[in-house]
Amino acid sequence: MPALRCDVKNCLHNSDNYCCKRTILVEGTDADKSEDTLCSSFDEKNESGSRNEYETKNLALSVECEAVQCRFNENLKCSAKHITISGNGASDSAETNCASFEAK
Ligand code: SF4
Repeated sequence: MPALRCDVKNCLHNSDNYCCKRTILVEGTDADKSEDTLCSSFDEKNESGSRNEYETKNLALSVECEAVQCRFNENLKCSAKHITISGNGASDSAETNCASFEAK
């Protein structure tokens, strides 16, 4: 499981740059660069009271990944030691990406 740093601080599941979900899904079947990937587990934090229901920060977590052209992708799972998700201020998952993508 990759150690995961998440810079998307306005995601509902983010706590101190850690993700509190047990697993996330990165999309980008046709991606050949980081900008074409996205974290589909992103949920925008809003003022209207929805809260982080996963309370534990995970230093590492299972990352399912559809970006098959990334060298860290092994059978649709991420095998990198550590990854970074970027896109702080995103209002939609399309504005996030896996900054650690490396083309095969
Ligand atoms: S580093 Fe590669 S395999 Fe791991 S989540 Fe990012 S795009 Fe997917």
